[in-house]
Amino acid sequence: MQNFTINDFEAKVKEITTRHKSVLDILTKLQESTAKVNRAVTKSATYCGCININASKQESPNNITYSELSKYMKTHIEGDLCDICRDKVVQEISQNIFYLTALCNTFDIDFESMIKNYYTQLNALGKYGLL
Ligand SMILES: [Zn+2]
Repeated sequence: MQNFTINDFEAKVKEITTRHKSVLDILTKLQESTAKVNRAVTKSATYCGCININASKQESPNNITYSELSKYMKTHIEGDLCDICRDKVVQEISQNIFYLTALCNTFDIDFESMIKNYYTQLNALGKYGLL
């Protein structure tokens, strides 16, 4: 694992998805895995209780700079994921990345290059890089 690269991960995903190459399988599995991420976070609050989600309108004073805004924005999460919930959330996010990578492989999109390009874009455009 010392010399692990994202390209190694892409190759492993390609190897594993050899029998399931349909874009429809990949798209639906990607969507399912996204729902499982949401489910894992939700169950951390509603079943385990290690976190509490207390959402309300985001409020901030007028006439502040964009960089000051982050001081007023909340995650709406109170508490921390316990080890069990953290493992579950990590597992589900990992599966989501797996299917995202499989989708990239389907269209010959180099995942590592894509991330590097997007990082460059974010550095250049900052907050305007987000849609
Ligand atoms: Zn928990």
